[in-house]
Amino acid sequence: MKKDEKLFKLKKSILKKNKYFPGKNLVFSDGNKDAKIMIVGEAPGRTEDKLQKPFVGRAGKLLDSLLESVHLNRSKVYITNVVNYRPDKNRKPMVREINDFKKLLFKHIEIIKPQCILLLGATAAKAVLNYIGPLRDIRGKWKNIKIINSYYYILTTFHPSFLLRQPDQKKRVLQDLKKIKKKLIN
Ligand code: URA
Repeated sequence: MKKDEKLFKLKKSILKKNKYFPGKNLVFSDGNKDAKIMIVGEAPGRTEDKLQKPFVGRAGKLLDSLLESVHLNRSKVYITNVVNYRPDKNRKPMVREINDFKKLLFKHIEIIKPQCILLLGATAAKAVLNYIGPLRDIRGKWKNIKIINSYYYILTTFHPSFLLRQPDQKKRVLQDLKKIKKKLIN
């Protein structure tokens, strides 16, 4: 089966979860399905729900500008979230939701088969690495993890929403983006 068909099938199975998020839209992904870098955020916010695209609000604009600083953009990365629906009142996804969507995220990763995965923030680190400690302790550290049938290089960094509150941490995220670029095999 082709990548597009697999993504279509996955999207259909995620659509079934809409019963748990009444009135919300599916926010599946953005970017290039053949990208070497896959970026995983937490969950859509209000703007993302409205436009049905991940990272298009304030945090998304910041993410775009950080990507541009290292000569990346949405045609060179693939972006999704752990939870593909906006949780009510912008709350963080619950553990039950993370565990539920995690299986679908793993299938998503298997379909895209990126060279590297960049996890943005604690929810993505929890879902993919099962990590629950302070983010600063794993930020910028490579992990090589098996997801379904393949191994992936995975780097965790701060979430852009956190950077909106702590702009002095942007330099760390830029370091991480540079690390990702260095790791890519041409
Ligand atoms: N924050 C996220 O984690 N994902 C989005 O798509 C937008 C904001």
